[in-house]
Amino acid sequence: MEKKRKTTAELNSNVPRQQMKEVECPTCTVHLQVEIPANGSKTIECSVCQHPFLVRDY
Ligand SMILES: [Zn+2]
Repeated sequence: MEKKRKTTAELNSNVPRQQMKEVECPTCTVHLQVEIPANGSKTIECSVCQHPFLVRDY
């Protein structure tokens, strides 16, 4: 059994430079939490309707 015990400092050093963003699926309008990479855009697949769409961080 593995215990997960992470300090805040460890978490910060592990996290890649991405930010969580809440986006709305254009097809079914569900809200999804996605990680936007540093270049600012990513194609994700909706977890509800499986429709892929492009997410951009302005
Ligand atoms: Zn959807």
